[in-house]
Amino acid sequence: MDVIVIGGGIVGLASAYYLRRRGANVTVFEKKNIGNGSTDRSAGGIRAQFSTPVNVELSRESIDVWTRFEEEFDVDIEYRRSGYLFLARSAKTAQLFEENVEMQNELGVSSRLIDSANLTDYHAELNADEFVAGTYHENDGFADPHLALQGFAQKAQEIGVDVRTSTPVTDIYKRDGAVVGVEADNERVSADFVVNAAGAWAGKIAKLADADLPVVPKRRQILVADPESRLPETDPLTIDLDTGVYFRPEREGAAIVGGQFDDVEDPDQNPNAYSTSTDLDWTATVLERASDVTSAFGPDTKVKRGWAGLYAVTPDHHPIIEETLPGFINAIGFSGHGFQHAPATGQLVTELAFDGATSLADISSLSSERFETGRTIEEHNVA
Ligand SMILES: Cc1cc2nc3c(=O)[nH]c(=O)nc-3n(C[C@H](O)[C@H](O)[C@H](O)COP(=O)(O)OP(=O)(O)OC[C@H]3O[C@@H](n4cnc5c(N)ncnc54)[C@H](O)[C@@H]3O)c2cc1C
Repeated sequence: MDVIVIGGGIVGLASAYYLRRRGANVTVFEKKNIGNGSTDRSAGGIRAQFSTPVNVELSRESIDVWTRFEEEFDVDIEYRRSGYLFLARSAKTAQLFEENVEMQNELGVSSRLIDSANLTDYHAELNADEFVAGTYHENDGFADPHLALQGFAQKAQEIGVDVRTSTPVTDIYKRDGAVVGVEADNERVSADFVVNAAGAWAGKIAKLADADLPVVPKRRQILVADPESRLPETDPLTIDLDTGVYFRPEREGAAIVGGQFDDVEDPDQNPNAYSTSTDLDWTATVLERASDVTSAFGPDTKVKRGWAGLYAVTPDHHPIIEETLPGFINAIGFSGHGFQHAPATGQLVTELAFDGATSLADISSLSSERFETGRTIEEHNVA
């Protein structure tokens, strides 16, 4: 079986790796360099605390791989499990937390509800009065996305995947309604399957095959700061779900801070989409919101650096993973969760190509048909 993968991010490389392991001849076309897209700009969060069963399942299967990553890929991805703490300001969000924890526990995730009185057990300087409840899962955490991507890329190439960088795919070919190949480097290359793993550009790639899939790029920024008081490395990644701000400890007391306060951009029209500095307005807002969560981000907090990247977002914040047309598999629209869900996704893509169905997880709810039938499944735990 010959497979072409479009996109040299973590989803493309994980797919290439698992496809090759199953025996496919795999070529990855990447328009620039490995990691050019969102993967290297991710915060590296890996968690099981999602609000829908399908996302929890993608996490469970992916965490299984992240846990033994070093053994399989010979790369230490600095996977630290200091937990995730979700915070609710409103009764409505607290109600959602109760439902989430019940569902997560049923799926074997040992998350728990936290009373507002006990929230400071998880972060000593938390402004606990601001919050009515929290949820915590000690096995959530984060890893280094760059190292993880290199791990997949190196192993994939070692076992025979052909990775062609600086080679954009410029067209997709069909015969009798089925996708049969691509144009890249002014050449036509045939394949039994073409996998769209083009991240924030995935909607454009789908259009080359005349498929209209609702995936749009949204700009997201992140900064590294020295908080007024150091964040202990054992503190959890903390998300104020009602304002969207999140932060987690970095090394030596520093913190990564992010949040969703700006809107859609077309990356090809906006040179700022991948800026290595953050917007001043955004920086002021995100630090103010962080200081509403914890007094650690007092007025003497110092910004060290920041960067921007792109989320590839669908209307219900779930990915599309399906064979959209015969021979055309899409693994797109991860809406801010694509780093952590890449290991499961790579295996699912492989099952779709080889078996025409998946056994790792039931992903029927992730087909694009949901946007036509209205049977969408909103993910609420989005930061
Ligand atoms: C600030 C920020 C924080 C984030 N934090 C987290 C987090 O904590 N946890 C998490 O799980 N996720 C997080 N994410 C999301 C995560 O980074 C993405 O979901 C994930 O990296 C998507 O991987 P991908 O391989 O699909 O896309 P990408 O890494 O974007 O790769 C797509 C590749 O396709 C290539 N491409 C595009 N068009 C073409 C073409 N025509 N031909 C060939 N190649 C092409 C691009 O150059 C790119 O390299 C974050 C994202 C941002 C921006």
